[in-house]
Amino acid sequence: MAPRFKKIVVPAEGQRITVKDRLLQIPDNPIIPVIEGDGIGRDIMRATRRVLDAAVEKTYGGQRRIVWMDVYAGEKAQELYGEWAPQETFDAIKYFVVALKGPLTTPIGGGFRSLNVTLRQVLNLYACVRPVRYFAGVPSPVKEPHKMNVIIFRENTEDVYAGIEWKKGTKEAAKVIAWLNKTMKQSIRTDSGIGIKPISATGSKRLARKAIRYAIDHKLKSVTLVHKGNIMKYTEGAFRDWGYEVARKEFGAQTITEDELWSKYDGRQPDGKVVIKDRIADSMFQQILTRTDEYEVLATPNLNGDYLSDACAAQVGGLGMAPGANMGDYVALFEATHGTAPKYADKDMVNPGSLVLSGVMMLEYLAWQQAADMVTRAVETTIGKKTVTYDLHRQMEGATKVSTSEFATEIIKNMA
Ligand code: NAP
Repeated sequence: MAPRFKKIVVPAEGQRITVKDRLLQIPDNPIIPVIEGDGIGRDIMRATRRVLDAAVEKTYGGQRRIVWMDVYAGEKAQELYGEWAPQETFDAIKYFVVALKGPLTTPIGGGFRSLNVTLRQVLNLYACVRPVRYFAGVPSPVKEPHKMNVIIFRENTEDVYAGIEWKKGTKEAAKVIAWLNKTMKQSIRTDSGIGIKPISATGSKRLARKAIRYAIDHKLKSVTLVHKGNIMKYTEGAFRDWGYEVARKEFGAQTITEDELWSKYDGRQPDGKVVIKDRIADSMFQQILTRTDEYEVLATPNLNGDYLSDACAAQVGGLGMAPGANMGDYVALFEATHGTAPKYADKDMVNPGSLVLSGVMMLEYLAWQQAADMVTRAVETTIGKKTVTYDLHRQMEGATKVSTSEFATEIIKNMA
């Protein structure tokens, strides 16, 4: 049943995305909830919506259209509802399945760690998905940045990020330390803070499943399970083992292991098979620099994935252009990966690239691939012509500096 909303106005002309037989059913005029975001969210969301609308219009000539529906979180929600994350925002995203989001201020002392974490937890968005690729012309610290084209699936709910920790000197820390030392025969210093690292079969398998399915659907060559299982055997090592188990049991016909690639196929990858491999995290950080193009899909536990996402983004010129999404089984929230940069808010200055490219991921998720490709090509052309916002301008020689809205206009002009 459709939820009743107090402040959200559901547009009459759109339709809801639904799920049938485990597949998304996308109408030609899907209602997409949008959280504009705080600070520069206003600038980049306006630009992004214009770009996405133009690509859909140019591709499908009016046959398809996104029907945007404002939903609220952050400062705007505080003004409207007197709370940072109103329940009806969660209800709307769940009900309409796919949403777009700008950056949100992290409230200080609001009773929760971060609005983003709250959204992920409440909506059970267990995979943080970050594609990282190079756009020609963007300044990069490495010699061959074009070799990077990976998509990182980072587990989003567990690991040391689960927030189970106790401060040094508290009753709770003392209790846990005493139990570990006495009952479990450990020798933890009594002046320690304690954090817990849970990694479950459930959390690891659903993440691996999503990464492997993505590789199969997109005809990619490999999925690499990144872990530190040589040291943390029953958490990170188990993550690796559960990943292989999912590949073998659920995708046996479409996958082979790296060992099988050599033992059975003499190193020549058979058509239609995804190679499942694993790398220890420290080696992965080295290889993504030295053998960049040998990797396509990376599946990681939470902490490794956090580091690796930013390290990969840095290799192709930084976070300014890095898109992202948080996904559950079906519900997906596409978002800018940077923050609200309050000093630039409402100045029509910043780079909308991260949110625009998150919008591209969203179009792909809707299976509107032609429109997605049109935006990607137009971003490539615009940056190739050295028409860029201040952040790239200051690092590029001979570039023309444009505002956020002008950058969007240039992207639209360059759509072909
Ligand atoms: P930030 O907002 O990401 O900004 C840090 C710096 O990154 C900016 O000063 C700017 O650098 C550059 N930058 C960020 N976005 C840019 C863009 N679109 N175009 C060009 N440059 C960009 O990080 P912060 O200042 O640490 O955080 C501010 C607020 O955002 C905090 O409340 C934080 O909690 C929140 N936050 C939200 C999210 C989210 O919603 N996903 C993520 C991170 C942080 P220069 O000054 O060098 O030009």
